[in-house]
Amino acid sequence: MLLDYRNDTRPLHAQLTSASTSQAKKRKVSEALGEEAAICANSLRENKKKTQSDYQIFDGRDVVDLFAENPATGEVEIKEAKGGKSQYGTRKGLSGTKPVKQCTLPYVETIAHKMSNTKYKGRHSRAPCAAHKPTGKSVPTCKDCQRAERLRRQEVGQKIKRAIAVGKLRKTGVRGDYNKSGVKPPEILTSWRSTTTGTTIPV
Ligand SMILES: [Zn+2]
Repeated sequence: MLLDYRNDTRPLHAQLTSASTSQAKKRKVSEALGEEAAICANSLRENKKKTQSDYQIFDGRDVVDLFAENPATGEVEIKEAKGGKSQYGTRKGLSGTKPVKQCTLPYVETIAHKMSNTKYKGRHSRAPCAAHKPTGKSVPTCKDCQRAERLRRQEVGQKIKRAIAVGKLRKTGVRGDYNKSGVKPPEILTSWRSTTTGTTIPV
């Protein structure tokens, strides 16, 4: 599976190490590498090859990077993907005063709240509307595709909130880094699950 990861990410690595790739483009590619690393980490954990289609993926601010639910156990897993050397950030918590760090439960609570109340009208929809579904691609300027993305975010935000309430949230942070000769194996930065009493335990 690590070999697959190395092969699958070869085009990303080529862009990241090329002098002709712009810094802005490198940031995007680095995020994509983080995503792939997070998916690979799950493949390794479950000893079963996972792909992008096993996840809901979100782009931009105020979202989780990857989301998946296990219908059998009711467990919800979210992943924070870090590309290259990027670090965990902080943001204002729900109470609005103390900053919360990206890898913590209060941070996830804040993001879940933001997602479930989002008024998203952006152009980065991954959810095609009914009319565009047959093409498999959302259209950036289509209002209905934007609405589909808004609803998708709200729904996932609700699911994360519910999972927190019943102690069934699992959170993993994964870094996908690289050097000149290739990508490094995915590095697990954080891994915990929530409990019914509002605490977390490492897993
Ligand atoms: Zn549409």
